[in-house]
Amino acid sequence: MRRAKIVATLGPALDEPDTLQAALEAGIDIVRLNFSHGEAETHARRLEMVREISVKIGRNVGSLADLQGPKIRLGNLPDEGVDVPVGSEVYLQPGRDELDEYSSGGHASLPVVYEKLANDVEPGALVLIDDGSIRLVVSRHDRGGVWARVVAGGLAKSKKGVNLPGVQVSAPSLTEKDLEDLDTAVRIGADWLALSFVRTAEDMINAGKQIEERGGESPTIAKLERPEAIENLSDVIAASDAVMVARGDLGVEIGPERVPAIQKEIIAEANAAAKPVITATEMLESMINSPRATRAEASDVANAIFDGTDAVMLSGETAAGRYPVDAVRTMARIIEVAESSPHLLHPNPDWQKDPEEMGLSRIVARAACQVALDVNAAALVVYSISGHSIQVVSKYRPGVPLLGLTPSESTRRRTALMWGTEAGLVPMKEQQVDLTNSAERVLVDGDWARAGDLVVVVSGRPGGMGGTNRIMVHRVGDPVLR
Ligand code: PGA
Ligand code: MN
Repeated sequence: MRRAKIVATLGPALDEPDTLQAALEAGIDIVRLNFSHGEAETHARRLEMVREISVKIGRNVGSLADLQGPKIRLGNLPDEGVDVPVGSEVYLQPGRDELDEYSSGGHASLPVVYEKLANDVEPGALVLIDDGSIRLVVSRHDRGGVWARVVAGGLAKSKKGVNLPGVQVSAPSLTEKDLEDLDTAVRIGADWLALSFVRTAEDMINAGKQIEERGGESPTIAKLERPEAIENLSDVIAASDAVMVARGDLGVEIGPERVPAIQKEIIAEANAAAKPVITATEMLESMINSPRATRAEASDVANAIFDGTDAVMLSGETAAGRYPVDAVRTMARIIEVAESSPHLLHPNPDWQKDPEEMGLSRIVARAACQVALDVNAAALVVYSISGHSIQVVSKYRPGVPLLGLTPSESTRRRTALMWGTEAGLVPMKEQQVDLTNSAERVLVDGDWARAGDLVVVVSGRPGGMGGTNRIMVHRVGDPVLR
């Protein structure tokens, strides 16, 4: 049984229904709709297909809408690209989608879609294009644009990302495009909402308001890829429902050599805060073009598991790669083997918490995991309307199978991101006896437990939203008293 979850990005490589079904069967738990690419209708159609197939194959699959955020990009360039030779000077033209001429007088001109580029950079600022493969240093301002010296050259292509490390980018964290995409995400009922280039806790609070104003209820994920977000890490985590170690842009912004230690720090902090954490980007990068992962990639996925991540993510591997199904299978296998290894640490979410601050749901969750282990329970069942108690129990990494039960279809799909959580749908429960009876039904029907097995049931005040406050040890088949 695999416990850490797999997030996989949708894209052309998974658009064929048979391929998508094979990839879902191979272990995708959450599909990512990447709003940096594609039209609203494409995302809607893809999500609909995922939901149809997941019902057909009987897998609980959730979805994550990933908003582009204030990502700076080049505009449109000629198909063959624009050569940017080392040692030359290039002219960057802000707020432009395309240009009439891309080179004149022996220097290249590049359109940059971001309007305020010239305002935000000073001479000496570094400009990185296409994940840093082209590096420029700004030399001077001129006619609304900037001149930059090329310190690492290459071929610039349409729509490639532009990073300005260390520069305070003045763009709002939710752009016009993001607000439109948010409308789409709410309309199609995305289960989680991820925000790119988050800087502060306010960015997350603001996003939550925008979701609410649109009548949505998706919890938010902060993509940690800006140095400011790392500086404000605990506040950003506190203001988010989950976080992502977004190693792609993070590596461009702060240098790849700093990513491994920051990954560990983020995972530890998210675990301490009992919030799900996803480790993302380039996990099986070589599988975009090859049917086998490298040793380094296998180690990377396994080490993220050893660090205590809840989920690992596939990007281009499943969105545009040649071996999307193999990538999911490979990832699932690496996780399973890592989880059976003695190196697997079970993070203790309370590592720096004062018991008084822990709150009842954590105290009950931790105790329930201990009880389940001590009675050798066939399963630990958690009943929750919002999913919060399921998430907290998941964070204590129960050593027995974890079954979340909820009356809410969206809560059920959301739990697909939570470590070690399987989930079932049950009617709203008013009485403990009804909950125990339907838990038994789900356990027995799903082959989780048989008559005579002990199970542990965690719940709140039945029928209410009250905090989790009950732990019951129950023998399957025994009568339950009212
Ligand atoms: P992206 O985010 O794939 O949307 O850029 C993840 C990352 O930067 O790692
Ligand atoms: Mn990114």
